[in-house]
Amino acid sequence: MESENVALFDMDGTLCDLRGQLRKDMDALRDPEEREFTGNIEVLKFAPPHVQKRADMIKSSPEWWANLPKLPLGFDVLRSAQDLGYKIMVLTKGSRRYPASWEGKKLWVDRQLGSGVKLTITEDKGLVYGKALVDDFPPYIDGWLKWRSRGLVILPDNDKNRDYGHPQVLRYDGSNLDEVRAALEQRLHGPTDLSQISRGGQEARLRVR
Ligand SMILES: [Mg+2]
Repeated sequence: MESENVALFDMDGTLCDLRGQLRKDMDALRDPEEREFTGNIEVLKFAPPHVQKRADMIKSSPEWWANLPKLPLGFDVLRSAQDLGYKIMVLTKGSRRYPASWEGKKLWVDRQLGSGVKLTITEDKGLVYGKALVDDFPPYIDGWLKWRSRGLVILPDNDKNRDYGHPQVLRYDGSNLDEVRAALEQRLHGPTDLSQISRGGQEARLRVR
């Protein structure tokens, strides 16, 4: 990339709604007597084998991944980063269990963002350079921040990450796009200091574990 001002964007839970789509498709295959699938991937690991098999079948199609619906929170941040002149790179974990996801994710990016947007599918997000990361999953955030004391992370809010906090992480819930934009702009000129970014900075400090 010709610019070092790279903003990295996660896919599932940030730019696209994997959980919501999986919940919908699992529901279509559910016996009325069966418990409803909540979309919680962790719960699925303990489901009966025939239920797990259904999820495997759904996720074995590249087209399923390629057609995941867009998530507005992630796209709000994406537009702000683009406006500020960031180079956008999609950074997503590649699943060994579902190789179809590698093909499908590439198609999704081409269709939703255009082939000009860079795409990195990796098994370790912590290896990839960026000035800012937009990601909803705390373990990936911690792995990335471990080596980036100046880095900024924007966290799209969801019910799975609500108890997470870190001084370099700004939560975005749809109501504070001005803060997100200010933090992204600050990062273009120096290290992350969310204490300068009004409410979000205070919130991030209060939520530090
Ligand atoms: Mg995610």
